[in-house]
Amino acid sequence: MEIWSLFGLEIDSKKGYVIVFRCKKCGMIRKNKAAEDDDMDLIIELSKGDY
Ligand SMILES: [Zn+2]
Repeated sequence: MEIWSLFGLEIDSKKGYVIVFRCKKCGMIRKNKAAEDDDMDLIIELSKGDY
């Protein structure tokens, strides 16, 4: 069972924002491109948080 926590935020010149998640159990990294209709303010706010 994966427990994904927000790990960081990357900015890709082609894809735009990429949200990085890390599994709390095994440390595996997963990246999800942020959709254009995602709430970017929320994502940026989350990226600052201690998750
Ligand atoms: Zn895992």
